[in-house]
Amino acid sequence: MDFLWIFLPFFLLGAGVTLFAVVHRRTLWALWREPVLSQPVLIIESDDWGPAPTSDVQVLERLVRLLSHHRDHVGQPAIMTMGVVLAIPDGARIRDNGLLKYHRQTLADERFELLRQTLLTGVRQSVFSLQLHGMEHFWPESVMAAAQGNANVCSWLTGDTPLGEQLPAALQSRWCDSSILPASELDAVTVRQAAYEEAVIFSRIFGQIPAVAVPPTFIWNDAVEDGWAQAGVRVVISPGQRQDGRDGNGRPVGPAPNKPGGLHLNGMRGRHGLMYLIRNVWFEPLRGHTAKQAVDTLARQVALGRPVLFETHRSNFIGESPEVERAFAELDGLLRGALQRFPLLRFCASEQLAECLSTRDVRWIERSFRLRFTVFLRRMLAHQYLHRLAVLTGAFFIARVGLRLSTRWQTT
Ligand SMILES: [Zn+2]
Repeated sequence: MDFLWIFLPFFLLGAGVTLFAVVHRRTLWALWREPVLSQPVLIIESDDWGPAPTSDVQVLERLVRLLSHHRDHVGQPAIMTMGVVLAIPDGARIRDNGLLKYHRQTLADERFELLRQTLLTGVRQSVFSLQLHGMEHFWPESVMAAAQGNANVCSWLTGDTPLGEQLPAALQSRWCDSSILPASELDAVTVRQAAYEEAVIFSRIFGQIPAVAVPPTFIWNDAVEDGWAQAGVRVVISPGQRQDGRDGNGRPVGPAPNKPGGLHLNGMRGRHGLMYLIRNVWFEPLRGHTAKQAVDTLARQVALGRPVLFETHRSNFIGESPEVERAFAELDGLLRGALQRFPLLRFCASEQLAECLSTRDVRWIERSFRLRFTVFLRRMLAHQYLHRLAVLTGAFFIARVGLRLSTRWQTT
């Protein structure tokens, strides 16, 4: 009977792995179902474009030249998706009515015609892809309410060209009321209608329904998805989970990873079949992010079979400071470095990537079970939420052994 003790560690390990698999079955299943890309994919996702000073025209033209300069092996130039806000406050009219009623100036106004045309020129040259970022980068009633007791917000609201990025962070969220923290929910019917209308107005301004929407500050809810989907939006850009409000300190809050909306992976579907794509890497040269770091991160994501959607913002590229020159240089370096390291890299728009995932295009999606399983093990080991229980139960150890065997199998 004593020899049976030999099996005890194996029994305990088996029980631990089973416990791990049962507890985290939904997350593991989601990681398995997330498509594995068979080629590296790089997308630059850039937000906060829209009504702005005319000097933005030169910035956009410079970006067009820079992006056109880098082409992947099938000849596609680098693409920057442009998250566009359609309107800013009409400061003069709001001032004239004593801050009693909100008025907006939109990209359809004559004042911004050159900007609108420059964005469309970039689309025609296949280097820009326009995405809906919101009618405004804020909820107008919230900002109007906040302005009553805040001199800075008041003077912003009545300025000549009030840009959303100049607001306090909490007020930049469009789909909750942050005028008083913690933020409160907006009326669902009003939100659904506003989300629908902003997508319709986008199509009037640019002549096409927005295929992709990017929630400002990544706070949104079911009513927003309802309105967008009704208007024809097919893809929502997510940071990996949905945030649905802000706490008393203004920090975004959302569901835990094991709750609905708490975990988004590429290709996952939301309400009405809306597909999520995940922005997984920050690239803000203004904050010190470099091309070299970005290419290294790209390599890690490629090993996980994922595309890289770099998040960046207009603020990196406007003005004439040395920081702006550095931002252009880092973007140039990122595109060049990525192509050198991954000659088979593909540039595409998020809309096109979503289409490939949707149709399970065999030219983009890996089908080999062995490769998919290897990537699944890597994803599991890289997923922070699983880490603690994986280590405690021994699942981490088993996955590492499995990954080593799987990798060796593929290289022999
Ligand atoms: Zn934004």
